[in-house]
Order: sequence, then C-alpha cells, then structure tokens
Amino acid sequence: MLTRLCDDFGGRLTGSEANRRALQRLSSELVALGYQPELHTFPFRGWERGEDRVEMLSPVRRVLRVAALSYSEPHPPFAADVVVLGRGAADDFPRSELQGRTGLLDAASVPLGEVLPVAKARGMAALLTINRENGGQLLARTGSFSGEALPIPVYSVTQEEGGWIRRLLERGEKVSVQVETRSHSVAAETSNLVVRIPGKTDDLLVVGAHFDSWDLGQGALDNGLGTAQVFALAHRLRRSQPLRTIELVWFNGEEEGMWGSRYEAGRVGGTRIVAMLNLDMVGVPQAVNALGDDSLVPILERWNAARGAKKLPLGVQNRCWFGSDHMPYQLAGVRALTLHGPIDPSLVRYYHDFGDTADKVPEALVVDSTEIIADLVLALANDPGLKPLRRTPADTAALFRKAGLEQRLRAVGWWSFGDGPRETSKSTPPSGAQPAKSAGPNS
Ligand SMILES: [Zn+2]
Repeated sequence: MLTRLCDDFGGRLTGSEANRRALQRLSSELVALGYQPELHTFPFRGWERGEDRVEMLSPVRRVLRVAALSYSEPHPPFAADVVVLGRGAADDFPRSELQGRTGLLDAASVPLGEVLPVAKARGMAALLTINRENGGQLLARTGSFSGEALPIPVYSVTQEEGGWIRRLLERGEKVSVQVETRSHSVAAETSNLVVRIPGKTDDLLVVGAHFDSWDLGQGALDNGLGTAQVFALAHRLRRSQPLRTIELVWFNGEEEGMWGSRYEAGRVGGTRIVAMLNLDMVGVPQAVNALGDDSLVPILERWNAARGAKKLPLGVQNRCWFGSDHMPYQLAGVRALTLHGPIDPSLVRYYHDFGDTADKVPEALVVDSTEIIADLVLALANDPGLKPLRRTPADTAALFRKAGLEQRLRAVGWWSFGDGPRETSKSTPPSGAQPAKSAGPNS
C-alpha cells in the first residue's frame, strides 16, 4: 500500500491534487477492509511551490540549489549582498547596515519565529538557511506555524553551497545573489481521514499519523511510514471489539503547521479520551514516551513489564518535544504519547527532500514496528486501569514549562495560558530552526 501511495501519486503536499487523490486511494483501501472512513474537511492556509530562483551573481555566476520555506510569497526579482547571521540570535546580527541584505543562517539556528522579526526590522530582504545534512540535501519545511505570509522569503540552501558562501564572506569577499520567488499562499481546504472501531464503551483512544508530506520527494519515511502503520492497525483491528472505541486518524497539513490535528483537537469538546498516540516517523520502537505527562508513566511501565522478554530496551521515557500532531491534543489537555523508534540515519537523512522515496522504507520496518504498536494500542484500549483524563489548563502550562517549551509556543502564537514564571531562552532545548519534529527523538 505504501509503495503504491508513493509511486502512484508522488509527494502528498497538503492541498495538492496528488494529496487529494492519494487520500482517496487510502479511503478505498479502507472500504475494502470493511470500514466506512469519514472525511473531516476544513479550510486552511495552503501554499504552492512555484518556479523560484536564487542565483549567485558574484563572485561566480551560478544558480543555487534551494527550496523555499512554506509561506514565502512572490516578489519581483532583486539582487542583494549576503551577510553571515550565525545562529540568528539577536546578538548574532551584525551591527553594520543590513537594509536590503540577504542573511545566511547556520544549520543550528534559533527558531525562525525569533529570527524573522529581527531580520524584518533591520530591513533585510531574504534569508538562506544552511542544511544540516550534506550531499546536496535541502530541507523543505514550514516558515510559519500559523499560515501567516512570511515578511521576507526564506530558503533552504544546501550545506555545500551555503558553506561555500560562508567561506567567501569570512575572508572578506563580497557575495551577491539574485532572488526571485513565485511560490505563494492560497486559501484552500483539505481533509483528515478518520476510521472508528467501536468499543464496548464510548471512551476513546485516538491513534494518528500525518498523511501529508512535502512535495520534493514521495514522503515515504515522513510520514508514509506512519500512514502505513495506522493502515496496518486498521487491518489488524477489523472485526475486533476492544473495551474502548479506537479512532484512527490520518492527519493532513502537519508539515505546514499541524493544521489537521489542530482541527481535530479543536473539536474534542467533552469527549472522554484516554489518550492520543501519535506516529510520526516511528521506526522499530525502543521506548514508549509519555511526552511529559506523568500520569501516563505507570500505565506504560505496566504495559512494558507485561511484555516480558519482549520489553522495549529503553523502557518508558517522559520527554515532551515540539512539533507534530500530538501537540494540539496536548494543548487541548488530552494526554498524548508516542514511541521512540530511531530510523537508520542512512535512510532518514533524506527526509523532506527528493530522496524520501519508497525505497527508503524496508518492508520489515513497517512489519516489525507495527507488531509493537498494535500490542500497545490493544493494551491501551483494554487496560481497565486507564481512565479518561483531561488536564486542567494550569497542568498543561506546567507540562510545557517543565519541558522548556513555553517560549517556543509563544513564538508560534500557541500559548494561551497567560503569564507564569517565564522561562529564559537558555532552557529551550537546542532544537534550532530545523523542522518541528527534528526536536524529537526520531530524527
Ligand atoms: Zn512527519
């Protein structure tokens, strides 16, 4: 199923025709299993990649390999001198005149939400962010988690060409580039796909994975893998009746800013939810992660202990990380968890780019990971000791403060808990401005 999803449609950028058709295919596969999948359709701010161009004008003329970050907007071509911005923290900006300049950011930069306002205030024209992977890799990712148009265009540039520009600048050479952006935002709608497996009670266990991907590759590991795991669960659970109702959700719009999970989490209302399990690039699980919610830890310890000889080697973790579809649920007070299953670096390095193709997902990765995921899902659906729980906003605020994520959530406009003891930027994990889930253990 995953190979066909990759090869028959290509990347599943949310809002694209390929995404719609691929979702339709998944839906018909679920119908063939005897389910009645539902489409939950919602409006969101889409973004379409156009024929963008960043060309080095001096000291050498050369078209650079780049990918615009989403919500970069069209503008007439302009030429600009490049300046080094290091990590892009306020102190890293040079004191010299920056009006009309293009900034070059290191791979381990501070989150873009913090760099952009400073760059804009200094009158800068564009930003180039150097990729952390070598070999000509780019890192398509979102420039905004709210869908707000970026004040200036932002591009991912390869480690090799970014490093080249930096070396030239560091020895005093002038480097100028011409930038032209045609990519643009668009009002759009998309859908999540939802399947319900009715239990003996209405208490709900949510299991979700994002279906969408970036456009450059096929979204095989990110997150065709999770898409396939949830599909395998659907296959496994058909005709079963667990104690709790299980909702399987394929989210759309995760890459541009978790639009699909924000939509679902926004409509949970008073539903009695025991937990939400998120599967985003989960390889063969080595640990289960309670994502900062202490109340889940004993339940997960119990599950892992009961696995006897098959215990997960790294046991139970309890670390929250920014990004992916667990977050909107957590913000709504729902307990969320995930599994820590690192993927071979030689495969995962291609994610968000051209090389994230079906050949990067060995069949055993789906089969072996689903074995453990299904065991966990059945335990959570049937464990009599697990009760529905919704954290109070104060407890949720405390969870994120403890994880050092308050500042990050404020920067993307998702902090709605008022002021408490403010954290300093030092307590923010070194997640950088890399894509949301690079802060997580899976990449
Ligand atoms: Zn993902």
